[in-house]
Amino acid sequence: VARTRLVVVGGDAAGMSAASQARKRRDADELEIVAFERGGHVSYSACGLPYYAGDVVKDWHDLIARTPEQFAEQGIDARTGHEVEAIDLEARRVRVRDLAAGRSGDEPFDALVVATGAEPLRPPIPGIDLPGVHGLSILQDGIDLRRAIDAGPARAVVVGGGYIGLEAAEALVNRGVPTALVEAGPQVMGHIDPDMGELVSQATRDVGVELYTEEKVEAVEGDGRVRAVRTGSRTLEADLVVLGLGTRPAVGLAEAAGITLGPSGAIAVNARMQTPHEGVWAAGDCVQARHVVSGQPVNYHLGTIANKQGRVCGINLGGGYATFPGVLGTAVSRICAVEVARTGLSEAELAQLGLEWETATVDSTTRAGYFPGAAPIRTKVVAERRSGRLLGAQIVGREGAAKRIDVFAAAIWNGMAVDDMVHLDLSYAPPFSPVWDPVLIAVRKLSEQVERDLQACL
Ligand SMILES: Cc1cc2nc3c(=O)[nH]c(=O)nc-3n(C[C@H](O)[C@H](O)[C@H](O)COP(=O)(O)OP(=O)(O)OC[C@H]3O[C@@H](n4cnc5c(N)ncnc54)[C@H](O)[C@@H]3O)c2cc1C
Repeated sequence: VARTRLVVVGGDAAGMSAASQARKRRDADELEIVAFERGGHVSYSACGLPYYAGDVVKDWHDLIARTPEQFAEQGIDARTGHEVEAIDLEARRVRVRDLAAGRSGDEPFDALVVATGAEPLRPPIPGIDLPGVHGLSILQDGIDLRRAIDAGPARAVVVGGGYIGLEAAEALVNRGVPTALVEAGPQVMGHIDPDMGELVSQATRDVGVELYTEEKVEAVEGDGRVRAVRTGSRTLEADLVVLGLGTRPAVGLAEAAGITLGPSGAIAVNARMQTPHEGVWAAGDCVQARHVVSGQPVNYHLGTIANKQGRVCGINLGGGYATFPGVLGTAVSRICAVEVARTGLSEAELAQLGLEWETATVDSTTRAGYFPGAAPIRTKVVAERRSGRLLGAQIVGREGAAKRIDVFAAAIWNGMAVDDMVHLDLSYAPPFSPVWDPVLIAVRKLSEQVERDLQACL
């Protein structure tokens, strides 16, 4: 039997999961696997970068799940410092640049996995490339940011109040750096509803971050090094700037090769992670997925999704059969002690879909009210009008709050109505929750509302 050659572009979560799963099912006599990664590392946790920058994780090596040497033992040739410059679908080869040697050459493939991830948005703001302005996207960014914080900056500005911006702000304030955060929208965490987002904005202020919302950065100022960030309303001095302006799917390479993109702007794949092009697969932040509630094509950038998609892709490449059913966009984050979580659809997304819904919001405590450490938790649930089908949930609260979102995620995934959830046999002991967990109080309240509305309509 002729040996098949699998080429993987991008050596992180999705690409290396695909490579490992394919290897598990087919040995090196049957399948040669080569992964090209332009960065200096493969298979690392980007999610851990803010915690390395903030000195919670002491050694960046701990963020690496597997090195090229460990992959070599598995029979996977993972080449760092190698950038894929072009894909030729007709000739079935990629053009690869060895960045250290400064040479490019062609590498043939029988099967190809595109796992190029997402890239940070870097709008053409004057001064954005000045020394002292940091992104936080790849491992090297985390290493550079940590070094910059170690050097003891006088003042930092974080641009962008998404979760990466907030996690960077947490790292800075925990290391004693006076920090301002500038956000163009009305609240931080723009993907959650305004009433919940306001709590997160307040939590950001409470930890000492100077927060400026509805202000756009117009320029980064400095001469040879960053000195300040100028918004429409003020100039904020800073000798360290961190950008968290959002990300987009890294599809330039795929698009140039003629690989089909979907309406979300990411690579279109079927449930087995195959593109419409023979032998070409894709997974991770660069691909489009189906939203389980809306049925719409979406493109989220989450490690949870990338790992699962890579696994599905690799199982199929190894001759097995697996499908990826879709996503809910379940995500958790925190700003210091305040945790934030969401799953399913927000009210803004529901409005766009033309659905009608009811919401219930409850304030409760993370532990039994009398138990030391009991702290506030606000839980918001959204259900379809009349049917009561759970459509989304959001949580903001202190320790132990965020992971409660997983109960809602499991319920939405299984198409449960709030009424079905009222008697869920969830756990309880005073250190963990009140006897009526906030999840249950919220669904009970919403289920009563849905029922009242239904009666009123009859
Ligand atoms: C700071 C930060 C915090 C995060 N926190 C969380 C979190 O808490 N929870 C969560 O679920 N997700 C989190 N994420 C998102 C998560 O890290 C990503 O969703 C995940 O890494 C995506 O995996 P991927 O393999 O699709 O893409 P990536 O991890 O981006 O990997 C793609 C790789 O492809 C390489 N590449 C791109 N183009 C080429 C080319 N032409 N040639 C060779 N190599 C190429 C890139 O260098 C990169 O290493 C975080 C991300 C960041 C940046």
